[in-house]
Amino acid sequence: MALRPEVTEPLPLVTEDTLLDEAMQCPTDRPLETRPLTEERAFAFWQKDIPEEYWSLDAPQIIARIAAAREQLGSRCVILGHHYQREDIIQFADLRGDSFKLAQWASQQPEAQFIVFCGVHFMAESADILSLPHQTVVLPNMSAGCSMADMADPEDVFAAWDELHDAGITDVIPVTYINSAASLKAFCGRNGGIVCTSSNAPNVFDWAVEQGSRSNGHSDAPKILFFPDQHLGRITAIKHGVALDEMPVWDYALPYGSLGGNALEQLERSRVILWKGHCSVHLRFSLEQIDKARRENAGITVVVHPECSIDVVQAADLHGSTEFIARTIADGPPGAKFAIGTEINLVSRLARENPDKLVFCLDPVVCPCSTMYRIHPAYLCWALEELAAGRVVNQVQLDEDTRRDARIALERMLAVK
Ligand code: SF4
Repeated sequence: MALRPEVTEPLPLVTEDTLLDEAMQCPTDRPLETRPLTEERAFAFWQKDIPEEYWSLDAPQIIARIAAAREQLGSRCVILGHHYQREDIIQFADLRGDSFKLAQWASQQPEAQFIVFCGVHFMAESADILSLPHQTVVLPNMSAGCSMADMADPEDVFAAWDELHDAGITDVIPVTYINSAASLKAFCGRNGGIVCTSSNAPNVFDWAVEQGSRSNGHSDAPKILFFPDQHLGRITAIKHGVALDEMPVWDYALPYGSLGGNALEQLERSRVILWKGHCSVHLRFSLEQIDKARRENAGITVVVHPECSIDVVQAADLHGSTEFIARTIADGPPGAKFAIGTEINLVSRLARENPDKLVFCLDPVVCPCSTMYRIHPAYLCWALEELAAGRVVNQVQLDEDTRRDARIALERMLAVK
């Protein structure tokens, strides 16, 4: 079969402003059901080259066409669905999970020629890094990015690295959250660093300290430069006994020479340097919401994602990755009550799948992660129909150097567990 990789435009950055625009049109007052692309204006027109015939298809039409294309492709194609995807996507996923589980699984599917990744761009990049040479990774909508990942522009990270070295701070291990560009994973691979996820961040911190102590030949632990999510970095550092004044925040918006807004002495005695990134979805959760959930529901368990702010994470009963949250609810006894601090598509699904328990989102204004939501089923339909016709659209394909170096950092992560 002749495959025709499409040349795609560079990814548009996902900024706070674009997210705000989308949130303004967020369907908070009704169920998150699929409407034709033309009616989901906030999410529909980001990748404009989808053929016009897909624009006005309604949900039943799209779903029937996805099912037909899926059947035609058979075992040549696997569809991976992140927990935050909408139901009309998740129903077609051969596997659903968090970015860690999906990256692992993608690397274990040698029979699949096509890996269609229903998630955001950095996840599809990880799948491409870990996939086999004969495999093709497709992201149905190339504009499905992540605002947090985009807060760590590789050029800014490289500049911060140089600035630290110029200032004489050289014993640093770079650790990137999996929510980051492949070029940053490659940077970690090249510089003795590693990737982490929200499931394994504490173990990765142990690994980094151990590696650094070995390489510097003495028992002093190295510093960790952690990006892009300051909140995951902060809670993980606290678990390691790092005091708040030993973890300065590096403000990437400041010009070169500003040491990210820190005094040299502050950086010298730091143990972890936190990049000033965050997830706009998880910063919506607050102490007031937790207090209200507890006031109105005696005996409730509050479970949040570690991308929430530190006060929210510390006030919650439990915190952990999306896999942890799903498992905690599934393992709860009948009648248990859970208030959850994570993305609404996952919370709604967990509520439906656990009808013997009370499960609700801490945030009453239920906006989804708008970039995950950009994987409209019409895009999945288009990508699958093109594959079935022998054409590849929206291939995520990294250059060999990036792939090789990023793979080093990702394989270290997979080995740490
Ligand atoms: S929930 Fe936050 S971190 Fe996850 S993809 Fe959306 S913006 Fe990025």
